[in-house]
Amino acid sequence: MERFKDSGETIYSFQDEFLVQCPRCQACAIVRRLDPHTTDLFAPLFAPRRFSCKGCGASKDWAEKEIRRSSHNEPTDDYFHYALWLQAPCCGEVLWACNLQHLEFIESFVRAELRERRPDSKFGCRIGVCSLACQNGCNLARTATKF
Ligand SMILES: [Zn+2]
Repeated sequence: MERFKDSGETIYSFQDEFLVQCPRCQACAIVRRLDPHTTDLFAPLFAPRRFSCKGCGASKDWAEKEIRRSSHNEPTDDYFHYALWLQAPCCGEVLWACNLQHLEFIESFVRAELRERRPDSKFGCRIGVCSLACQNGCNLARTATKF
């Protein structure tokens, strides 16, 4: 039996890297934190980011003091608001992942038959919009493996 061990990741654990769709050439591009080694508690979220695309060579830097989440439902990265690469429709919602680690986290959750969760954790905000609304684990697993 596969076991899901909740090690306390939050959605912020996955924000050092976003896989996004390049707005210029539509290839898979990346938004990455420039300094991954800072120890400041709040720095990781607001640390400068760089968008870069290997497909067309586009690149762009982000260095602001606040993050604006787009109000519409389309999943985008928090910095440049480009469409996330890893997204798929699921039960009328869109399941999304920031990057491959995040996707693995979702997959290990939906695959596991035995889920160990921390009683105090806010699990729902970590695995994308669809997950908790979706009571049907099989459907979610299928969507996750389709990426
Ligand atoms: Zn590109």
